[in-house]
Amino acid sequence: MLTIYSDDHHLHHGRCELIDGQLMPCFEMPSRADHVLQRVKDRELGPVEAPRDFGRAPIERIHDKGYLDFFQGAWQRWIATGREDDIMPFTWPARTLRAIKPTTLLGELGYYSFDGGAPITAGTWQAAYSAAQVALTAQASMQAGAYSAFALCRPPGHHAASDVMGGYCYLNNAAIAAQAFLDQGHKRVAILDVDYHHGNGTQAIFYERSDVFFASIHGHPEFEFPFFLGYADEVGEGAGEGFNINYPLPEGSAWDVWGAALDASCQRIDDYAPDVIVVSLGVDTFKNDPISQFKLDSPDYLNMGKRIAALGKPTLFVMEGGYAVEEIGINAVNVLEGFEAALKEGAHA
Ligand SMILES: [Zn+2]
Repeated sequence: MLTIYSDDHHLHHGRCELIDGQLMPCFEMPSRADHVLQRVKDRELGPVEAPRDFGRAPIERIHDKGYLDFFQGAWQRWIATGREDDIMPFTWPARTLRAIKPTTLLGELGYYSFDGGAPITAGTWQAAYSAAQVALTAQASMQAGAYSAFALCRPPGHHAASDVMGGYCYLNNAAIAAQAFLDQGHKRVAILDVDYHHGNGTQAIFYERSDVFFASIHGHPEFEFPFFLGYADEVGEGAGEGFNINYPLPEGSAWDVWGAALDASCQRIDDYAPDVIVVSLGVDTFKNDPISQFKLDSPDYLNMGKRIAALGKPTLFVMEGGYAVEEIGINAVNVLEGFEAALKEGAHA
């Protein structure tokens, strides 16, 4: 399997985030992607290539232009005020306030974000832009005939909506790739989000559309971030009604429960009959993940890949979360190796 990877992710290294009611050093750190890349090489998964640059146009198919302008220019505006530390939002337009867009940097940042988990640093735009190009390049390889590809994106993307950043995410790499498939002739794309957290950004982007089916398996928002989306009764709206499905699971869920939700997700995806599948591949479902509450073990990820392969569809894997840094490479690559092993066994036939 071809892996697309850009060193530009090192340009983004936030100092701290607001998580669990505290200011903490960022769990989302550069060594995450480094470990995954090392594992890809150690296991000889396949070639590793740098991304091509498709420009901003395919990103603008998903993200609001005003949001992109703000994000791209935020750091220069910030240092022009004499500041040099990461920018963090601290005021958001909650229910009793107006959802107007202020003209000041910090006002706009509150307008364009939903939490204090996505700091902007000097290199954040370039890192996120390159991650989107990683996803687009992997997508292009499949458009050119590859059956599968791995977009080793960092920062992750599934919490980012059209004009909202948060949860370590700025640009929604999986959504951008899914849209590119549609723009290049595919009719139906299914996104399977296996990250521990609900893919609220992806859901929001496609909630009223029928050309992208979204399924997410995640920690129940009654107890877990992002708290305000990801419930089972969110099934899509308008033209999108029936094309969104959530599997919120209880704390402590292990493979027996999680695998059953995967089976159910795959059944729904099979019913949808997509041309192609995009997997939002987070491995923060791992039992030793420092910010998560599920109990998957490393061999479970092989089974995850096998079950996805059994769908028998071209599949693009897009890296999302996973914060047990030492094991992130093993678990992520296990999914890819399980997928490839199943293909070799003819499970997709
Ligand atoms: Zn996550």
